[in-house]
Amino acid sequence: MNSDDRTNERHDSVERQLVQRDITDERVLEAMRRVPRHRFVPNELAALAYDDRPLPIGYDATISQPYIVALMAQALALRPTDRVLEVGAGSGYAAAVLAELAAEVVAVELVEPLAALAAEHLAGYGDRVHVVCADGTLGYPQRAPYDAISVAAAAPEIPPPLLDQLAEGGRLVMPVGRGAEDLVLITRTPAGDMRRSLLQVRFVPLRGRHGT
Ligand code: SAH
Repeated sequence: MNSDDRTNERHDSVERQLVQRDITDERVLEAMRRVPRHRFVPNELAALAYDDRPLPIGYDATISQPYIVALMAQALALRPTDRVLEVGAGSGYAAAVLAELAAEVVAVELVEPLAALAAEHLAGYGDRVHVVCADGTLGYPQRAPYDAISVAAAAPEIPPPLLDQLAEGGRLVMPVGRGAEDLVLITRTPAGDMRRSLLQVRFVPLRGRHGT
């Protein structure tokens, strides 16, 4: 492994920011150790890539804080056979973490240059990851249903098309609210959808037809 892979730094940050908090899923921890976050941030911010904070990636978007990416992935309880929809691909970082845990990821991004950037960053995953430039509040019906849906931008309500595209037994995680949001986890069971709030968070706004 070459010296600029920053492996030690990344492993240390996983230990301090995730293990010592409440990330206990070993597969999630391993995925966070594997994905090189410094390759997903702008060059001028690369020195900060292993701080536990969001960083600007242009176009009013941010790469999410590593702890939040790990918490969302853990909440989704992904199996290696799952198909996942991510809304708000941004840099592609969270999609890469999800791709380490599931069989297939469809990552939808509204802003064309960001979709292009995400596609470039995710090229190594081949056809297991599809980046689509579109309004993600409409989901992506072509590949539905999804075992898991992860939304990386906030809106007052969960867009109905996303709930329509969630499989039986599926999980959806999304920041819901205005200003300060609740990170909400929906679990679809035969008895109906269960809803739980995980944490108070702040995300960039979800735009589009069913956005803010
Ligand atoms: N998961 C990203 C975080 C990106 S921030 C990462 O790991 O880098 C949220 C992203 O949602 C922004 O890139 C923004 O452009 C995008 N977004 C906002 N509204 C959207 C919509 N309706 N459909 C798809 N993407 C949207």
